[in-house]
Amino acid sequence: MQNYIKISTLNDFIFCPRSIYFHELYAKYNTKNYHQKAQTLGKHNHENIDKAKYSTSKNILQGISVFSNKYLLTGKIDLFDFVNKTLIERKSKVVKIYQGYIWQVYAQYFCMIEMGYEINKIKIHSLQDNKNYEIKIPGEQEIQDFEKLIKDFQNFNLNSKFNQNFKKCEKCIYNELCDYYK
Ligand code: SF4
Repeated sequence: MQNYIKISTLNDFIFCPRSIYFHELYAKYNTKNYHQKAQTLGKHNHENIDKAKYSTSKNILQGISVFSNKYLLTGKIDLFDFVNKTLIERKSKVVKIYQGYIWQVYAQYFCMIEMGYEINKIKIHSLQDNKNYEIKIPGEQEIQDFEKLIKDFQNFNLNSKFNQNFKKCEKCIYNELCDYYK
């Protein structure tokens, strides 16, 4: 049986494919030991969603588990407004729409579509400045690119080639563990 990919690890994979191994290693420990401030803030946002603190609106589904058998994905969504058929992912502060954010909401989107939901809009919401960023519903090209990402993820191992970016290594929370940083 093939392993399911956690949607939350797609962003790490985009940042650096090696980091997904350390993500799994650290998953066993208390995140307070290694999460940096921005990540801790993001985690609190998601904890509020998990505990359904964000909204009591009956039109909003919060923190539901989603999965895709087609792409072998599993994870949770932030919010789904089922009146406006809008998938919403909240971030603490969005300064730029990174590709990793887009893959994350696309992964959620594909899971939900496979589960039978209808989605007309995808939005990323920046909490601190209350801004919304609309993300294009994936078309042919985006589907192809997404499928390539999933294949790359499934085929990657620690001996695979990758493009090291030292600027990313400087900021990487796993750099103490990584041979490539020493
Ligand atoms: S230290 Fe650099 S090479 Fe190692 S996981 Fe982090 S970003 Fe990747």
